[in-house]
Parts: sequence; structure tokens; C-alpha cells
Amino acid sequence: MLSIKNLHVSINDKPILKGLTLDINPGEVHAIMGPNGAGKSTLSHVLSGKAGYTVTEGSVSYQGKDLLELAPEIRAREGVFLAFQYPVEIPGVSNIYLLKAALNAMRKYHGLPEVDAMDFLSLVKDKVKLLQMDEKFLYRAVNEGFSGGEKKRNEILQAAVLEPKLCILDETDSGLDIDALRIVAEGVNSLRSPERSFLMITHYQRLLDYIKPDVVHVLAEGRIVKSGGPELALELEEKGYSWLEGQAA
Ligand code: ADP
Ligand code: MG
Ligand code: MG
Repeated sequence: MLSIKNLHVSINDKPILKGLTLDINPGEVHAIMGPNGAGKSTLSHVLSGKAGYTVTEGSVSYQGKDLLELAPEIRAREGVFLAFQYPVEIPGVSNIYLLKAALNAMRKYHGLPEVDAMDFLSLVKDKVKLLQMDEKFLYRAVNEGFSGGEKKRNEILQAAVLEPKLCILDETDSGLDIDALRIVAEGVNSLRSPERSFLMITHYQRLLDYIKPDVVHVLAEGRIVKSGGPELALELEEKGYSWLEGQAA
């Protein structure tokens, strides 16, 4: 699904990622943990194609294609989805309009006709129910005035509607209370399938109680310094990250 090799990324000539290598097979859930400022969001932004990041070395292959060569909107249509750490408010654009436009753009790219209006409504209402959201959120401007937790839930609603192949979740758990965390995790778990992969960035072990990862990685100093099974997350919870310092070398 995704093969990142020796990725080096700079922002304004400042190296942030320094030789990151990561492989994700279809159906796998990988968690990335790591201290603040380690480059976790940088990784998610580079994969989704956000401007302002310079790849100075390395490669990213997604489903056999050179991901870095693709425009951000093409990556999205090819099935790369990013749930933002800080979801953006879009005043004047309703949530349901955005969802429909995004779904139709994706369908068009894959040679499918526009989704039938009634089919879309029932699809989107099913997903709203899955995430235990109020239908009113569909008719509000995207994320405008949403609480932190509501924004995070809304990101997963987008994923549920768009059915991406590679789902990148950047600290989707932060800002969620324990009930919302469980609901969001159920939403994510319902999306798990042998054809879909997840890259879950999180600070907290707690999320991984609900979404069992296949692999846990530690990102520190711009590269993966340790990988292991779910038990690694428990170890990190207990010991923090400092014991891993210097291991990158
Ligand atoms: P994480 O998500 O792991 O907390 P980030 O990827 O957000 O870390 O940031 C990695 C580093 O890059 C941090 O030191 C951060 O200050 C720096 N950084 C991020 N964006 C910019 C920017 N636009 N200009 C300069 N430095 C940045
Ligand atoms: Mg952070
Ligand atoms: Mg971050």
C-alpha cells in the first residue's frame, strides 16, 4: 500500500524528517507515536501533498505509484485521506455540500456517474448515525464553531463517506472525551478492511486500547527509532520517550 524509503523533508531549509523508512501493507493499522515536534504532522502533510514541504531525499510509493509526483487532489482521489490534527473551518460551505462534492470528484475521477441525491442522503445519514452525530451538523458550515471533539468526529465522518484506501489520522484522539473516543474508534474500526490501511498518529496509548494496531512505531528526531507490537505503546506510556534518545543514530 505505502512504502516510504529514506525520506528527508525540510521546511524553510530546516530538516524535519531525516531518513524515515516505513512500509504499510493493505489491511494493516500502523500507529506512530513520538514526542512533540518529532515530525509526525510533517509526515502526514507530506503524504497528503500540503505545500511548503521540500523533499530533499528519499521516495514514497503508494499502490505502486510515485506519490510525491501526484497533485494533492489526485492523491485524495486515489484514496489517500488525511484527518487533520487541526481541522480547518470553512465558513459558507455546508458540511453536506463538501461531502457530496468530494465524493463526486472522487467518483468522476474513477469514471463513475454522480451519486444519486437520494442515495447520497441515505448514505451520509447512515454514517452520521455510525458516528453518533446529530444530523444538524450536516447543514452547518464545515467545522465552523464546532468543538474540538466535534471537529475530530467530523473528520472521521468524511473518511466514512469517502472510503479511502489509506487513512491517515493525525491525533484524532486528542481533544476527545472518553465517550467520543470510543465512538470515533468504533467508526474507525468499522472502516477496517483487508483493502484499507491506517496510519494513526497518537500521543496516547489509550486510543490503541480501542483500535488495535498491527505495528507501533516511535518517530523521534525525524525518523523511526523503534517499531514493535501493541506492547510497545504500553512500554512508552510507562517509560516516556527519553530512553529512546540516541537510538536513531
Ligand atoms: P509533531 O506533529 O510531531 O508534533 P510537527 O511535524 O508538527 O511535529 O513539527 C516538526 C517540527 O517542524 C517542529 O519543530 C515544528 O516547530 C517545525 N515546523 C512545523 N511547521 C513549521 C513551519 N511552517 N515553519 C517552521 N518550522 C515548522
Ligand atoms: Mg504535536
Ligand atoms: Mg502534530
